[in-house]
Amino acid sequence: MKPTLYSLLRPFWPGGETLQSLKKELAQTQWLSAEALEAWQFERIRRLVAYAYENVPYYNELYCSLDIHPEDIKSIGDFQKLPFVTREEINTHLREMTAWKTHGKLLADSTGGSTGEPLHFYREKAFDWWDPALELRGRGWYGVGEGEKMALVWGAKRDMHLQTWRERFKAILLQERVLNAFNMTDATMAEFAGMLVKWKPAMFRAYASALALFAQYVKDHQINGIRPRIIETTAEKVTQPQRELIEEVFQCKVADWYSARELGTIAYQCPEGSLHVCETRYLEVVANDRPVKAGELGEVAITSLHQYGMPFIRYKIGDMAIADDGPCTCGRGLPRLKEVVGRLQDFLVTSEGQFVHGGYFPHTLRHWPQILRYQVYQPDRKHLEVRLMCKTSDDLAWISNLRNELRECFGVQMNISLNIVDEIPLTSAGKHRPIISEVKPDFV
Ligand SMILES: [Zn+2]
Repeated sequence: MKPTLYSLLRPFWPGGETLQSLKKELAQTQWLSAEALEAWQFERIRRLVAYAYENVPYYNELYCSLDIHPEDIKSIGDFQKLPFVTREEINTHLREMTAWKTHGKLLADSTGGSTGEPLHFYREKAFDWWDPALELRGRGWYGVGEGEKMALVWGAKRDMHLQTWRERFKAILLQERVLNAFNMTDATMAEFAGMLVKWKPAMFRAYASALALFAQYVKDHQINGIRPRIIETTAEKVTQPQRELIEEVFQCKVADWYSARELGTIAYQCPEGSLHVCETRYLEVVANDRPVKAGELGEVAITSLHQYGMPFIRYKIGDMAIADDGPCTCGRGLPRLKEVVGRLQDFLVTSEGQFVHGGYFPHTLRHWPQILRYQVYQPDRKHLEVRLMCKTSDDLAWISNLRNELRECFGVQMNISLNIVDEIPLTSAGKHRPIISEVKPDFV
């Protein structure tokens, strides 16, 4: 790789050494056997729980009230008796969740509110080394190194030509170019595509839906020569048709990157297709508060093994997933997820209490091309409101067919209202939110 401004300045940045040593450590631990990795994790779990008990008022009070002492935790089974922590609890007890006294300065942060209540949290400086180390290792699996050119297709504060000089300098230094997912027009996509053909990015990092839109543009306009080595998609689940389109247009694999603002990288897809959970996250899939077997759907609970300033211990992040068992053909011992199915808010419930993933709707509604956009709102287990924005409201005979179809899925007891509306407002983050559910599946 030719030296760049980034590679020349990198050794002088604070924390550079920490990052390098973490990268080395992660390069080793990924090859540990499943048993050795569990021992490696368990030691860190014990250390974290003991630290939280001693230094974090919330955990101290919680564990004391349940008569739990860290020294009693002698196995993973003992650890799994600890209570879960939810978003709501963190928001309510934010101040008591931190280890101010021993940990010093922490940075306040919050998640976006596009999928429910934002979570407020604090993170320590070490997060800035741990997280890039995990990300960089994942990219390394595809031969992309630190500081290589990155094209981003996601929500940005402003478009490139409106950036301040500071933002431009940062983009040049970090070798990043952004297409703003909140403002994707033919003109902005044409400009971005033209730039990328010459600039030759090593990778894309993108919202799947936004990148699929861009890929379609590139395909329709027969623009050739954009050939990244890896495409990282995040923030939303990449659907199979999106993956096929993106991989076809850019001739490159899509790597699913499961991350959350409060925890950073959680899992990264290897070239063999497995979504590997990073070793510094102890991830459990639970239903009725008990771990479920591989292959079964449940809620995700994560213990973050390197966050000490504000520990996350058995934190229910609000995602649903299915774990996988057995080793991956790539040889890494890191645990695997079969699928991150979606966010809890993406699920609807039938009158019989079965849950239905929100993906049912795009799948079903595509049979009615007159529907431009939809939003489903479920206030409780008996009611379902479907708002539809249509091309024309002249002939609505098809509505009864749609109603029958929905009744088949959601049950005859469900009160289904189908409303034709002129507009469906976007969220404050500029995203369309197709599913809004106030009901949780039974087993959560
Ligand atoms: Zn693998």
